[in-house]
Amino acid sequence: MKSIVVIGTVAFDSIKTPFGEAPEVLGGSATFFSMVARLFAKVQLVAIVGKDFPHHHIKMFQEKGVDLEGLVRSEGRTFRWSGEYEENMNVRHTLETQLNVLEEFQAELPASYRKAPVVFLANINPDLQLRVLDQLESPQLVCCDTMNLWIVNQRHDLEKVLKRVNYFIISEEEAQLITQEHNMIKGARAILKLGNFSLIIKRGGYGAILFTQRNEIFAIPAFPLENVIDPTGAGDTFAGGFTGFLATQNEVGLESVQKAMMYGNIAASFCVEGFSVDRLLDLDRETLSGRLREFVRMTHLANSLANVE
Ligand code: AMP
Repeated sequence: MKSIVVIGTVAFDSIKTPFGEAPEVLGGSATFFSMVARLFAKVQLVAIVGKDFPHHHIKMFQEKGVDLEGLVRSEGRTFRWSGEYEENMNVRHTLETQLNVLEEFQAELPASYRKAPVVFLANINPDLQLRVLDQLESPQLVCCDTMNLWIVNQRHDLEKVLKRVNYFIISEEEAQLITQEHNMIKGARAILKLGNFSLIIKRGGYGAILFTQRNEIFAIPAFPLENVIDPTGAGDTFAGGFTGFLATQNEVGLESVQKAMMYGNIAASFCVEGFSVDRLLDLDRETLSGRLREFVRMTHLANSLANVE
């Protein structure tokens, strides 16, 4: 089993959706990612929490098999984020971001992490993403996400990161913010020029689209759900399924990327069915694959993508 190093946030989220509120629940980009990637690979977490971070959350990560050697516990307060969703839950507003302990984080990799072949640079300061890349010996697969705060405040560092990634996975809103372009195709072309990566644009309830440097394009719908409770973390969960599946492959070609997108898509469909990581805690490969098979049957993708595990 390969290992995946993930750097990102471990957070307290306060969420408001049309269905209710969840104050100070476990969140963070690295948290959601780990809860799915662990089903495919050994996850080595790089993150920081404060002294207010309860032991039962730490225990939960341990029970899920996540390697916490790279988790720093500091004296300050844990990173906090709050957000509110409109009736159309594809539209989200950030109410507050408190960086707290993130401001002192150095992202030092334990020696046991440095040989990891796969890395996911989850949403966090791009200078920390760079620092992780610099400490890895020879990563073969680098996937990366970002968010509005970093696109606006640390654009220069973000562009440095993008020169070194294989897959850049962002939301449609983030793509628009990077390029100021409302036509998604033109925007995608402009983003692809920032490096040599493939781009995946996540479109919430409308699915996800892949754009490659070779002008290939592949779109999948989201798994149809009638009860979406809280979309927070869907993007990181998508990345967990995507990166996790690719970590199981010896060769990464277009077909395995398409399958990886499907795994990401299905993982995200579980995430949004509850607040925080509630629906991901008991998720296993069989449940994930079961819903994936249903998705393949519904969309008739089976003809072009035989042998989905
Ligand atoms: P997503 O819904 O996939 O975009 O991810 C939401 C998660 O990202 C939440 O659990 C937040 O704690 C975390 N988050 C929000 N803002 C930031 C930020 N600026 N940097 C890193 N993580 C963040």
